[in-house]
Amino acid sequence: MPYSHHSHSGQFCPGHARDRLEEVVEAALSKRMQVLALTEHMPRHDDDRYPEEVEAGMTFASYHLENERAYFEEAERLREKYQGRIDLLVGFEGEWIRPQESADLVRRSLDVYRPDFFIGSVHHVHTIPIDYDGEMYGRARQVAGGTDERLFEDYFDSQADMLRSLRPPVVGHFDLIRLKSDDPDGSFVAMKGVWERILNNLDYIASYGGVLEINTASLRKGLDEPYPKAEICQVRHTRRAGRWAPPPEPFVFGTAFKEPEAKTNTLIKQQTGCPGAKDPILSLGR
Ligand SMILES: [Zn+2]
Ligand SMILES: [Zn+2]
Repeated sequence: MPYSHHSHSGQFCPGHARDRLEEVVEAALSKRMQVLALTEHMPRHDDDRYPEEVEAGMTFASYHLENERAYFEEAERLREKYQGRIDLLVGFEGEWIRPQESADLVRRSLDVYRPDFFIGSVHHVHTIPIDYDGEMYGRARQVAGGTDERLFEDYFDSQADMLRSLRPPVVGHFDLIRLKSDDPDGSFVAMKGVWERILNNLDYIASYGGVLEINTASLRKGLDEPYPKAEICQVRHTRRAGRWAPPPEPFVFGTAFKEPEAKTNTLIKQQTGCPGAKDPILSLGR
């Protein structure tokens, strides 16, 4: 597998990843990756901590800021150490929870650390996490009006705000909102308001040259297709919406695939009809 542009380590993202960052790099080397992007999550304010962070007493001031500083320091050390063996891009994954506050935090990280790039992701709607568990998803759905369709609309509206405010070079798991819904493999096309928002967001991403990632974390979680669904990928062919970031395998460790390379290549062809989706990520390099 030649590259991955989305990764987390247990060292800097203890909530949902494993292993030290250097072990992640070693795992990528063992899979013959040529490019690996390090993209730990950006800090979140205290109101937006996950339950395990509250329990562990991890605050913005006592943990998140220091964790970010230590991450960038370690990432630079690894970049030097592994130079010539693997091309490490140093970036981060953004949050979009409260527009002004989130934009300020992203800009702060960009200003302070000057990363190679960042991933623009939305993991919250109405400030509630939508990919954490069914209970939180259900709360967000209630606030949105009680149906998946209403919540999907609000998610893509929130994504539109994020896109316009930040113009992220890479857009993360474009349709993450379906993960905890009643029909996570269902089509968006018949939901008129949702589909319109999807098309608008794809057009906007294309307008500034953003890259969509294909993210296979969904498969690990039992869904049928990577993010984004094939029906969204196909829009790219007809409307030329966006370039494609190269492949999936957002977690280089703990993969469920016995043959990740073959599986990944097949998926890329199926989803995008574009076997040569190699180049865009390389252009993100320093
Ligand atoms: Zn991530
Ligand atoms: Zn994410």
